[in-house]
Amino acid sequence: MKQLKELMPGVQFIEDIMWAGLFGSTKDGLPYIGPHPDFKNAFFVLGFGGNGITFSIQGRQIIADMLSEKPNELSYYYRFKR
Ligand SMILES: Cc1cc2nc3c(=O)[nH]c(=O)nc-3n(C[C@H](O)[C@H](O)[C@H](O)COP(=O)(O)OP(=O)(O)OC[C@H]3O[C@@H](n4cnc5c(N)ncnc54)[C@H](O)[C@@H]3O)c2cc1C
Repeated sequence: MKQLKELMPGVQFIEDIMWAGLFGSTKDGLPYIGPHPDFKNAFFVLGFGGNGITFSIQGRQIIADMLSEKPNELSYYYRFKR
């Protein structure tokens, strides 16, 4: 809206529809998936950036493996405090 008003200052218009998709990203581009030391009995699947379809599916598998105490090689890369 601000940019449009600057671009076309003489034109009157109203907002009809506004839409946005928000992405939470981490510094290294990888998500945080797994337990966090400050939150007992909780598992997190966060910070997907623009790759949420891939990371959310991996997150489901990693958390399922953690709950059944199976090793999952990806959990190392997505851990908190890495
Ligand atoms: C505009 C946009 C573009 C994107 N493009 C890409 C892309 O190109 N590539 C990519 O990899 N990722 C992309 N993503 C990200 C990706 O879509 C998401 O990160 C991913 O879908 C997250 O999966 P999820 O299963 O964690 O959550 P979601 O897909 O959000 O699923 C959560 C589900 O839980 C349901 N739900 C929520 N609360 C409740 C409740 N209380 N009770 C019952 N059900 C509930 C919701 O209705 C929803 O169906 C994009 C996202 C957006 C917004």
